[in-house]
Amino acid sequence: MTQPASDSPCTALRGDVLSFRGDPFVDGLDASLQYERDALVVMRDGQIDAIGPAAELLPRLPADTPIEHYPHALITAGFVDTHVHYPQLPIIGARGLPLLDWLERYTFPAEQAYADINHARAMARLYLGENLRNGITSAAVFCTVHPQSVDALFEIAQGLDMRLVAGKVLMDRHAPPALCDTAQSGYDDSAALIARWHGQGRLGYAITPRFAPSCSPAQLEAAGALWREHPDCFVQSHLSENRAEVDWVRELFPDARDYLDVYDRFGLLGPRAIYAHGIHLCEREYGRCHDSDTALAHCPTSNLFLGSGLFDLAAAKRAERPVRVGLGTDLGAGTSFSMLRTMDEAGKVAQLRDAPLSPAHALYLSTRGGAHALHLDDRIGSIAPGMEADLAVLDLRATPLMAARMQHVDSLDEALAVLMTLGDDRAVRATWIAGILRHDRDHGEPVTRRVL
Ligand SMILES: [Zn+2]
Repeated sequence: MTQPASDSPCTALRGDVLSFRGDPFVDGLDASLQYERDALVVMRDGQIDAIGPAAELLPRLPADTPIEHYPHALITAGFVDTHVHYPQLPIIGARGLPLLDWLERYTFPAEQAYADINHARAMARLYLGENLRNGITSAAVFCTVHPQSVDALFEIAQGLDMRLVAGKVLMDRHAPPALCDTAQSGYDDSAALIARWHGQGRLGYAITPRFAPSCSPAQLEAAGALWREHPDCFVQSHLSENRAEVDWVRELFPDARDYLDVYDRFGLLGPRAIYAHGIHLCEREYGRCHDSDTALAHCPTSNLFLGSGLFDLAAAKRAERPVRVGLGTDLGAGTSFSMLRTMDEAGKVAQLRDAPLSPAHALYLSTRGGAHALHLDDRIGSIAPGMEADLAVLDLRATPLMAARMQHVDSLDEALAVLMTLGDDRAVRATWIAGILRHDRDHGEPVTRRVL
């Protein structure tokens, strides 16, 4: 254990720990997976101070150190949801239509309500509370066109000391007038939000053009200019989700080589840029994502719900040009807050692609892989000294069926498979953010209640 940098007290979690020190798609599972039975995770000042065998670390802890013991559980890094729309909570499960019809019919009417900051605050509370119940400790979040929808989310996330990335949607065409900004007002509002929020505590701002069809060339130009002026910000958008959308983009931007090239031309590719879906990409687009260090957010529950298509994870992670990939819930087109459910659906999509996804690889995608996609893997996504202490505790016996099934498990891989097949929010025993217990399934959540 490192010497404490301060006299501040530490807290420790005891249990089986599973984390990743690298990318199993690139380095292989043996080199990247770290599994320690009966380990201790020691936290201090919001960071991980030490991780190692409990028998070794316990004698070195101050006698009064609080220790939370989690038997029959896995302690993992908190989940990272790399793509989600918090304003769409009120339309989860609105019957599946193709993307462009779904936007018109459900999404645009729902998003208009966020002109009212009180509605935005109520939904932000619900959204962040659900994240905690599901072990999600970081996310990249779309707000609406209204700047106050960002204020509402960041105000509450700041109270939770959550590492959250979010931004005001930019859209100046092909939407109801009440949801449209202009190239100039979108630029001005985003710049003001960056000044107000980016780098405050653990918050990061994402420049957020909704998707190419909803942004005029002038607006994409302004978004690119904004990123050049604030290069440490994030960029998030959508890419190649649905065939009709891809055709529409070709009509709207006839000079672009392909969909990704639209964003490229406006300077919107690079580190900390993340694009949701990327289902119908050509080889040039994968290569360009790799070369520019642009990430993809794979959102299987949404892709299945809207019938968008099957993401080709094996193609995205091809060894000679691996692309950064994280998992996203993509609520409200996504159908679950649970990253366990999302991992399970990613596994099914991979099966349909004839390229099975191992449970450990799926867990990587929802933890360190998501952090890597956001270029935040030096701070979150794994359990190691110096990392921020964002943790999820996953109960392997959360339901009677899981408890019975786990009795027949004879490997870690099989335990993970059962966890992601049968698990959901009930399997999240606890969620710790920056070393503070924010969700305790069995004993209430007094600290969180004050914030939410
Ligand atoms: Zn989306």
